Amino acid sequence: MRLSRRGRGIFLISGTLLCFVLQMLIFKVPNNGTLLIAGAPVNVTGIIQAVMALVCVVLVLLNAKIGIIIARIALSISALLMILAMVRSKMLTPLPGAVTILLSLVSCEVIAKQFRRMEAESITDYVTKLINRRGLIRELELEQKDSKHFHMMFLHINNLKVINDNLGYEFGDKALVIVAKRIQSVVGKDTIVSKLDGTEFAIAIPEKEDVKEMAEAIMAEVTKKLVLDCDGVPANFYLRACAGVATYPEDTNSILKLLRYADIAMYHASKNSKEKIVYFNKNLESELIRRAQVEEYIQESLKHDYFFLVYQPQYYANSKRLRGFETLIRMKLPDGTNISPGEFIPIAEKTDLIFKIDEYVLKRAMKEFKEDIAKSNEKLLLSVNISAKDISSPDFHNKLSRIIEETGFPAECLEIEITEYSLYDSLETTVANIRSIREMGAKLALDDFGTGYTSLAQLLNLPFDLLKIDKSLVDNIETSEVSRDFVNLVIYMGHIMNSEVISEGVETESQLKLLKDQNCDFIQGYVWSRPLALRDALEMCR
Ligand code: C2E
Ligand code: MG
Ligand code: MG
Repeated sequence: MRLSRRGRGIFLISGTLLCFVLQMLIFKVPNNGTLLIAGAPVNVTGIIQAVMALVCVVLVLLNAKIGIIIARIALSISALLMILAMVRSKMLTPLPGAVTILLSLVSCEVIAKQFRRMEAESITDYVTKLINRRGLIRELELEQKDSKHFHMMFLHINNLKVINDNLGYEFGDKALVIVAKRIQSVVGKDTIVSKLDGTEFAIAIPEKEDVKEMAEAIMAEVTKKLVLDCDGVPANFYLRACAGVATYPEDTNSILKLLRYADIAMYHASKNSKEKIVYFNKNLESELIRRAQVEEYIQESLKHDYFFLVYQPQYYANSKRLRGFETLIRMKLPDGTNISPGEFIPIAEKTDLIFKIDEYVLKRAMKEFKEDIAKSNEKLLLSVNISAKDISSPDFHNKLSRIIEETGFPAECLEIEITEYSLYDSLETTVANIRSIREMGAKLALDDFGTGYTSLAQLLNLPFDLLKIDKSLVDNIETSEVSRDFVNLVIYMGHIMNSEVISEGVETESQLKLLKDQNCDFIQGYVWSRPLALRDALEMCR
């Protein structure tokens, strides 16, 4: 039975009163505590003591902290009285009662100790030994009572999975312990550090600290090189992290809302490639509401087919001959609203919906183009974007070969575009999937090249047929010499590695000329064509 706080309070008070009433009764019982009931002598003192012991145990069960104090007082007094009675009467009759009372006291102590241990465990994270979410809320409520102001920082370790996957969970746990110690080494004594679920830490920084300075110091410490000892062999890792900060009571005066706001800010930091620490503001919350709404739209679109595909032509830079098309998804709701893939794809990527979208696009594009691509003399290519989550899933290979078989699409006319982001952790599964795409006869393109962190070693290791220079680089080639040189370098590098290079987002004639001069192989962009409806794209094929 679970009692409310109030219920427990009432029990506690009545229990305490009962103890003292019983205590008084012991004094009042005549004849050494023996009464004649129905003609037979009954040891009433013993009964009263047994009841009191029971009440004390119940009190301890109700509230270990207060219950044990009352039990100690009541039972000690009772034991003392027994001993006094023994001394006074010079008889050993009260001895069994005194022993019972002392044993009850020991039981109460054991129960209370057990309770305190369980209580401590329930608010402790068993890996890092920091307080957990429950403990944190309790501590924050105390801060709130003391009218203290503070900043709540949520910190998420992004790539602990790499350690878990490569070395095992035991090493992941070791890394978390190190992170906990690192955080504690930076913060002051009155900062509360706690470990939430998974790979998240929550840090309550007192108002007197410069929160920006402190948050950055924590971030710098956590992302320092981490060396794990694997059977005497040191393994080096660099943890990546992001963080969100909300302030009490400026942002909200509710503790639970404060935690939610810090979480929202952290979510935004995880999406943001530039700022690793995001400070909460009300707009972030509305973005989150929008996100939930877009998620709903995606579900609806999958169910009722509000998705459709458009195809953007890609051309040979020098001859303007058609190379193929990039498949781009569109969402149009029944009320006519268009939602851009730039908005819904990142949201789908945060959930498993992206698997469904990628499968939908692959199937539909391959079905729509099957006849015309196969018939075209030019060996046209159909490019399809595959998200990082999909390419790193163990199921990807089977999914792709099944769709190729089902649709009868010629694999050599298919090109899979993955982004640099997919290679971030270069997981074994991703690499195996990338190789299997080539083994099936399809081509492989690296999308948004120049925006991420692909290392040269990764590029050399992985068989990309095409590097796609991101629009953000193309945008600046007319005005910035650095961008021009960088694009030149990427084209040169791609060619050394036997890859071809396409520039996307080419909008002006002068960008086009510069890219041609730099020997860029292909062009995709509004300068030659916007994405086309299926009918127009098929027309172009023919
Ligand atoms: P992306 O794969 O890099 O696609 C290129 C984006 O640049 C497309 O935007 C395209 O319409 C746009 N674009 C091409 N040329 C120009 C130009 O000259 N000027 C301008 N301003 N934009 C140009 P879109 O279709 O909005 O797609 C945005 C992103 O959404 C894509 O970037 C891709 O990451 C994702 N996406 C689109 N379709 C799919 C899909 O079917 N599956 C997956 N997984 N992601 C998709
Ligand atoms: Mg693309
Ligand atoms: Mg791109």
